[in-house]
Amino acid sequence: MNIENGKVVSFHYTLFNEQGEQLESSQGSDAMSYLHGASNIIAGLENAMAGRRAGDKFTVTVQPAEAYGERKDNHIQRIPIKRLGNNPRPKPGQVLNFQTNQGPVQVTVVKVGKFNLDVDANHPLAGQTLTFNVEVTAVREATEEETSHGHAHGAGGHHHG
Ligand code: ZN
Repeated sequence: MNIENGKVVSFHYTLFNEQGEQLESSQGSDAMSYLHGASNIIAGLENAMAGRRAGDKFTVTVQPAEAYGERKDNHIQRIPIKRLGNNPRPKPGQVLNFQTNQGPVQVTVVKVGKFNLDVDANHPLAGQTLTFNVEVTAVREATEEETSHGHAHGAGGHHHG
């Protein structure tokens, strides 16, 4: 079965930056699953998946515009510390995850004040050219529920809490 819109794809990946340093890998944990055509993963990787099938291995290099975007200068935002709830006070350089109306967002702490945090709202991988080593492990039809939700369910997919 070829990867095309409406298929749920499971894959393992290892991610490298331009310097060849390994940033992330799914090896050793569940394969990641996504719904093809629903922009669940970065555009450059999703495009490279089209037409592949289970068992395929490939390497793709993705420019920032098709990954996490270009890095913006002065993209600093101020967030009230109380938005962190009971979490411990973060330290500069720490990456925080927030849920927003536009989905999950990752920011990097620049400065910690008494009541506010200054964060760099660039995604930590913004501005980077990324290389993925990919192994497609499974391709299947999406269920009606997955299609209506716009994401994959099950191991490596979206979990509803
Ligand atoms: Zn769902």
